Amino acid sequence: MLFDSHAHINFESFENIWKEVLDDCQKNDIWVVNIGSQFPTSKRAVEIAEEYEKGVYASIGVHPIHSHEQENAFDYKKFVDLITVGAGLVPAQDSGDHKGRPYNTNKIVAIGETGLDFFHSAKYFEIQKKTFIEQINLAKEFDLSLIIHGRNSKDGAINCYQEIYKIIKKEKVKNAVVHCFGGNADEAKQFMGLGLYIGVTGIVTFKNAKELQSMVRDVIPLEKILIETDSPYLAPDPHRGEQNKPQYVEYVARKIAELKNISYEKACEVLCANARKFYNV
Ligand SMILES: [Zn+2]
Repeated sequence: MLFDSHAHINFESFENIWKEVLDDCQKNDIWVVNIGSQFPTSKRAVEIAEEYEKGVYASIGVHPIHSHEQENAFDYKKFVDLITVGAGLVPAQDSGDHKGRPYNTNKIVAIGETGLDFFHSAKYFEIQKKTFIEQINLAKEFDLSLIIHGRNSKDGAINCYQEIYKIIKKEKVKNAVVHCFGGNADEAKQFMGLGLYIGVTGIVTFKNAKELQSMVRDVIPLEKILIETDSPYLAPDPHRGEQNKPQYVEYVARKIAELKNISYEKACEVLCANARKFYNV
């Protein structure tokens, strides 16, 4: 068994092949969580998950790069409807109080991806932070895991991980993953100190990813790693540059086994157990 903890088969590049890709995953016992980045892609992730009995799940949320694009890009109530009603989205008779509402889809396993992204600009910091905290609150309300995205400014002057750390510490976030982790060893240790998981993508297979490889070897225990593809992006070696797919999570697992000097089977066993525990599936 393999578990791709972060993919976007709900995105347009899979529009015509999503079923073929996921049916093949089912056949090969590869479980997948599709991650939303805006409301429509979140809804799509839920629709896709509802097509499968098990092994395909959804995370719903608004990516920081989309948080300023329209007013109220993260509409709390719409996301509550998605959780309580499902992708059919018959709007609930809202009494204004969601507490105790039935939880109608067991296919939504997390909130996100949310977080902070300063790569293009830091000028949206406040709106990103506000949207991030709202999603932390949604995860808490429904006792769901949280998927955190972070990206530093282009020149490296503004560190997203320090800002993320401050927020999640203050908000007492515990069940979260820092997806596609791009920080240093001290930052990884800080996050793990709060009980968080570290997301490792196909980047770990790249020849020039020396810092990440040494962190995986020496700093991050196997029990704290979630493997992911981030499909359609970041295809691992030897498929670098192609459209990624969940099947390629195997290359990530193989590289981690090599770095940890353990068998591929043992790595898969622990890495799958981590993801199942994190998502509670
Ligand atoms: Zn992603």
